This record gives sequence, structure tokens and C-alpha cells, in this order.
Amino acid sequence: MTRTPLDSWIRGKIGLQPDSPLTRWALDAFQLEKLRQILTYVREKSPFYRRLMAGLPEHALTCLSDMAMLPFTAPEDIRSAPLQFLCLSQDEVARVVTLQTSGTTRAPKRIFFTEEDLELTIDFYHHGMSTMVSPGDRVLILMPGETPFSVGDLLVQGLARMGVEGIVHGPVHDTEAALRTILDRRIDCLVGIPIQVFHMAKDLLAGKIFPGRLKSILLSADHVSDALVEALTQAFRCPVYQHYGMTETGLAGGVECAALAGYHPREADLYFEIIDPDTALPVKEGETGELVVTTLTQRAMPLIRYRTGDLGRFIPGPCPCGTILKRLGRVQARRKGIFPITPAFSLSVPQLDSALLAVPAVVNYEARLDENQGKPRLTLSAYAIDGAGEPVRRQILKALRHIPGLRETAEAGHLALAVNLAAGKPPISTGPQKRRIIDQRSQTPYTLKL
Ligand SMILES: [Zn+2]
Repeated sequence: MTRTPLDSWIRGKIGLQPDSPLTRWALDAFQLEKLRQILTYVREKSPFYRRLMAGLPEHALTCLSDMAMLPFTAPEDIRSAPLQFLCLSQDEVARVVTLQTSGTTRAPKRIFFTEEDLELTIDFYHHGMSTMVSPGDRVLILMPGETPFSVGDLLVQGLARMGVEGIVHGPVHDTEAALRTILDRRIDCLVGIPIQVFHMAKDLLAGKIFPGRLKSILLSADHVSDALVEALTQAFRCPVYQHYGMTETGLAGGVECAALAGYHPREADLYFEIIDPDTALPVKEGETGELVVTTLTQRAMPLIRYRTGDLGRFIPGPCPCGTILKRLGRVQARRKGIFPITPAFSLSVPQLDSALLAVPAVVNYEARLDENQGKPRLTLSAYAIDGAGEPVRRQILKALRHIPGLRETAEAGHLALAVNLAAGKPPISTGPQKRRIIDQRSQTPYTLKL
């Protein structure tokens, strides 16, 4: 199996000679040194961190685990005063990304980048993508890319460095047209938002258009269920890779290797920790918790112990590809995306995805929680491919019972279920926003247990 290209890339970035292997010891020592440097940098340059760390000793770190003593940065901190994080003059900022949380009136998050910060992202895209494509290939990018330094634009630049042509299509509005583009432009690889590529797979399986032979698909910008990956692998008959990242991590975080067994983080630029979201203490190795990230090399707006709200874990043991780089297990949900129903049962979009997207006729769905006669009610509006009727509704109800705990909860009368089949052509979500359950209950009676 081919080793992740991130191995040799990171070996070079931390200053090892090409003939010396990347070792955990060397990478840990590099990360510790970078953490010390970035802490000194933010205390000097960022008003937010100068205040936050005012009482801490000058040289706080003697080993990586000392990071657990430092305070966290919350998304709310960025929302309330983004300029307090900026370490440079605004003239040096090349791009500002404004992140608006859909469905809320909260202040947006603003994230600042210098050209050097974005160069690190381009470099990661260049090396990370070499798992999926080779020189001469063409990649169709189903992500936003019109503006300079947008994800699509950075990816085009990264791919060009390895002789691969990146073609920005943008988010998918018309699945048949996107499939036709694959054929017309002789595309080798797709990069897209999971549910949108899933829509395309359903059209493909319905025999609407045959897009030729793809080598690979890379999914990004939302969590992905096994059912979805399975459907894409079957429809397009190629490996399906996943990328994890967020704007706050420089639009890039980690990417799967040929083993398809977890994301390798870009460890020369990011330091990940996993904490218990309730106690904020580090979890034991291999346990699931909230991902916390420190950016080691960003200059405009470094983040220290940033609470991502995403739940994940480090997979213990070496990767089958042979690298010593860590592996993050697939990020399954956001913490705020898990809805307690009873003390023993919670519901999340990944659970619904696993059940509903495995029903062959289902293309997408919307989920809503409310109360009916004082009890929680889950209403699903499912979008199915042409001609699906009552049998599909029954298949959906049957599939829901496979969600661990749901059947018992419903049978005990603690949750009512309603499934509607939405008529007409399914709307395709056109943005990279994460999918969610709309919770309209007046109160959430139980606290979340992982
Ligand atoms: Zn690997």
C-alpha cells in the first residue's frame, strides 16, 4: 500500500533529510518547539491572548501534555471580537472569511489569513491530493471557487503544482448537468460536498447518465456516513476519500490515505487534542471526545486550544499505509448536533444518515423535532427518486428501527415518529452548510452523555 504523501511532505517541513525516516519523536519535538514559538507570538501580538494568558508563566511548556494546562479558545470568543485575535496590521490580511451560522442571528465568525497562511493550505492541497490523482488528470471541484483564495481557487493552485487541472464547477444545482460535465470534460476525480455527490450517485444509479470512469472522489465540508460512502463507491466504482478541516484550521485539516482508515492530520501545521466535552480534560487514548486544535504556523490569526465542537477520536495503532502520522477517526457529529430524547437515547444526523441514506430510493431528507401532546416527536420529510410511494415510506420506518435505542424509545412511548414523502424533485442543498436536525422543542430535558 502506498504511504500517505503527507509523510514525506511533513518530513521535509520539519527539516529532516530525505534519507532519514519521519519518527514520532522528531515530530513531537518539532510540534513542541512550534507551540512554544506560537505562544510567545500570540502573547506579544494578539490583544485577546495577551489578556487570556496574562497570569501564566513565560515558558509554560516543557512537554506536549503541558498544553492541557492552557486555557481554551471558544468560537464565541472569535464571534464577539475577531479583531482582538489579529496579530498583524489589517493591510497584511489577504482574505477574510465570514462564517454565518445558518438559522441564527448570532454575530458571524471572522477568520483572517495572510498570503503566507494561504500558501500553507495550497501546499497541503498539492501534496494531499497526490493520493487521489496523478499528473495529467482533471479534477472537477464542486465547491465555491470564484473568489480569489476561496477553497476552489486554492485547490486549483495546489493541483496545478502537480500538473493536474482543477476545474471549478461550484456547488451542484443540477445533478444531471454535473454528471454530463464529468463526461464532457473527461474528469478523473471529483471533490465535493457529501450530500450533493450522493444526489449525483442516485441519478447515476437511476440510469440517467453515465459519466465515464472516475479514479477517485474526495468528500469535504460535512460529516459522512458509511451508507453514503457505500452508495458512492457502488455508483461511481472508485475509492471515496475524505478530508476534514474547517476555516479556522486554514481551510484544511487532514486527509485519508489509500488505506481509507482515518484522516492523517497536517501535523507540521496543526496540533490536535481530544477532550471530554463536559470535564474539558484529555480523554484516554482511542476514546471519543471533542476535537481541540492549535494552529502552529498561521500568522494572521493563530488559535490556541480552539474548541471545534466536532466529536472524534484518535485511532490507536499504526496506519496500514506505514506512516507514524496520527489518524483521526471519521468525525461523526458536532456536539451541538446530538439531541437528547431520554436519559438513555439521543438522536443525531449521522444516525439518521446511516438509516435513511441506506434506503435505495431516498435522496435526502429533513428532520424536525417538536412536541405533540407533551411528548417528543420526530418528523422526517424524505425526498425519494421518481415514482417512490408507500413502499418507500414503510422501508424508511423499518430502517429507522435499526438506529440503536430508537425502537425501544418509540415503543415505550417516549418518541413519536412521523414520516412524510415529499413530492416533486428533491431540492439540492446548494451551500456547504452542515446538515442538521431542527429542534423546536420548548426545552431539552436531559443533558448529553457521550
Ligand atoms: Zn495512512
